[in-house]
Amino acid sequence: RIQINDLAHKFPTTDLLFEHLNFTADQGQTVAVCGPSGSGKSTLLSILAGWEQPYAGKVEKQGIQRIRWVFQNPYGVSGRTALDHVVFPLLAQGMMRCEAESKAVEAMSLFDLEYAAQRRFSELSGGEAQRLMLARAVCSQPDLLLVDEPTAQLDMRTAHTVSRVLGHLAGQGMIVMIATHDPSTRDACSRVIDLSVYEPLQRREQS
Ligand code: ATP
Ligand code: MG
Repeated sequence: RIQINDLAHKFPTTDLLFEHLNFTADQGQTVAVCGPSGSGKSTLLSILAGWEQPYAGKVEKQGIQRIRWVFQNPYGVSGRTALDHVVFPLLAQGMMRCEAESKAVEAMSLFDLEYAAQRRFSELSGGEAQRLMLARAVCSQPDLLLVDEPTAQLDMRTAHTVSRVLGHLAGQGMIVMIATHDPSTRDACSRVIDLSVYEPLQRREQS
């Protein structure tokens, strides 16, 4: 479980982004982190990942050892196949190749990507690359999966599939937190944190 107590954050060069944020998420839940651009969605994910120290307040994580992050912009090795991108981290974890490949194919098919397994990374569309990053993250069975704008590059139908799959994964005992603008992703999540609710009053009045 993740417990957030009276969290506030600002960067040295910014005003307070949010304050008095209290939240608890349990294993099995999908949480949508919503709010306008610049409200601190990505920042909140960084704090949960432990990359960014919060300005004030506390984040407690229980039973969370493995954290995976899927970035807003997919990145990969252009000459390598899509499948390689999912298989390599599993090999690095010490898995045998045949097991790694079958796991990778399984994860790719979750995201309707098996048809692209042998394509080079450079040949993938933006949305395919995005789904590939999700398949790779999911394969390592994290306890906490942080996803930044997973559906930004996807059409509505694919976005819907991705949201549904992420919800299903949470059911298998992970916590999935998704920074998103997309209402259909938000609706597919079991919980919502709307950062505009925690925006300091002065800031709200300025804008
Ligand atoms: P978007 O929807 O556009 O992705 P967001 O809600 O994810 O927005 P953040 O990326 O969390 O927003 O950024 C929140 C604010 O903090 C922005 O105004 C941004 O410019 C600022 N910011 C983010 N990272 C840093 C940093 N390392 N140093 C200083 N300011 C930062
Ligand atoms: Mg962001």
